[in-house]
Amino acid sequence: MEPALDLETRPEPVTGYDAREVRHFIDGRFTKGKSGLTFENMSPVTGRKIGIVHEAGAADVDDAVSAARRALKGEWGRLQLAERTALLYEVADEINRRFDDFLEAEILDTGKPKSLAAHVDIPRGAANFKVFADTVKNVPTETFNLDTPDGRGALNYGLRKPKGVIAVISPWNLPLLLMTWKVGPALACGNTVIVKPSEETPLTTTLLGEVMNKVGVPNGVFNVVHGFGPDSAGAFLTAHEGVDAITFTGETRTGEIIMKSAAVGLRHVSMECGGKNAAIVFADCDMDKAVEGTMRSVFANCGQVCLGTERVYVERPVFDEFVARLKEGAENLKLGRPEDSDTNLGPLISNEHKQKVLSYYRLAREEGATVVTGGGTPDMQGSLSGGAWVQPTIWTGLDENARVVKEEIFGPCCHVQPFDTEDEAVRLANDTQYGLATAIWTENLTRAHRVGAQIDVGIVWVNSWFLRDLRTAFGGTKHSGIGREGGVHSLEFYTELTNVCVKL
Ligand code: NAD
Repeated sequence: MEPALDLETRPEPVTGYDAREVRHFIDGRFTKGKSGLTFENMSPVTGRKIGIVHEAGAADVDDAVSAARRALKGEWGRLQLAERTALLYEVADEINRRFDDFLEAEILDTGKPKSLAAHVDIPRGAANFKVFADTVKNVPTETFNLDTPDGRGALNYGLRKPKGVIAVISPWNLPLLLMTWKVGPALACGNTVIVKPSEETPLTTTLLGEVMNKVGVPNGVFNVVHGFGPDSAGAFLTAHEGVDAITFTGETRTGEIIMKSAAVGLRHVSMECGGKNAAIVFADCDMDKAVEGTMRSVFANCGQVCLGTERVYVERPVFDEFVARLKEGAENLKLGRPEDSDTNLGPLISNEHKQKVLSYYRLAREEGATVVTGGGTPDMQGSLSGGAWVQPTIWTGLDENARVVKEEIFGPCCHVQPFDTEDEAVRLANDTQYGLATAIWTENLTRAHRVGAQIDVGIVWVNSWFLRDLRTAFGGTKHSGIGREGGVHSLEFYTELTNVCVKL
């Protein structure tokens, strides 16, 4: 999976996507940009360098914004809805045609198991273009007939217009999927975009530039600038006055900084931020389902899923059994190279993130946790020894106010705590500053509805996890976000409504 690294001797110029030298994609062209800055892209699997990435300076961001503004007024802006949505279908089809290229790029950047990326990241990344193309075709706008004193009345109708140039700031955990979750609806609504992918995962977003060119999306409609947040591409982009709205997925702290930028010019923001999600396991659950679902919600993508579970509350009569079975499941996870078919746990995204997760592993001990399993680093052999590997970890016995129970860790770990009553479970699940997701495991349907309605989150799952109908609202309450995306809810953010009032 790792390309040979020989930057000095490789032929120039590179005109398209190249994992070894990643360029910006501005106005339909791949470019090194003007800043002269680069940074290294490291493999989470081995800790070795995969390639270099050109870092955008303010001038590069300015070029991208100018291209996006021009494109709004050009051919793209004149396309009819049917033409625009047909193009987005072609984008999805072309991603699927180049499925293996996207898969390789995503795995290089993230180290996640191929089986996961092949079933979730790439297909969902492609699907986002079709789902939102369908949505915009099928959503009516409102009309009202108004009575007037002369008896003739007036007709009001809404017109949905693109918002303009959208800045998309995306994270590293599901790079293609979460980026297209924003780019899909933005383009379907007729906007143009500038994406700043995470510095950890530049590849699939860049590769999407080739797809856009191949299917004939006009230049400047989809742009990519690379770099970091502060004093780099992220900050330059979100502060740029030519950007009309900012859609962000990432940490709550970063979201707060971006909101300050967006305040200048009263620009609209959509924020999908962190979580500290609970699972509630009732004694009347189907234990096989609850264990299997919690295994996924805690350990999928090495725990780096915003919707993942880090707090598990289990009704006391089944607590010991549940913990024992979760422990057995965690100890049977197979860490390994992404391409090995039996690998089901990859590394964390980077050695820096590994240090953060390990600091919580240490903190858990200091705070008095019982380490049920894990709690350290696995013994990885050969080239894997330099990778960002940590052990899947389960704790019990922590106080509810322990930092490990309160703060988002974003690793393959959870704390399991017993409860005695339904009210107590609801109180514990809600006792967090976050409000993204909760999974409830019970075979009692009345209880499921009753408890589900009391949880302060954007999404409640009953007897499932990560089951997403893309037509439904997605987002978080409290520190987990602002606004909802998904289905028609995305249109609220990606369009402006103009009411036309016609006196008859
Ligand atoms: P992050 O906030 O560190 O980075 C996200 C993006 O913001 C990156 O592209 C980064 O370069 C950019 N950025 C950072 N500082 C910036 C600044 N000052 N100005 C502009 N851009 C800036 O988040 P991450 O570590 O990439 O992702 C993990 C976090 O994302 C976790 O907290 C996770 O819960 C959250 N997340 C939330 C959702 C959701 O849907 N709610 C989905 C996935 C991840």
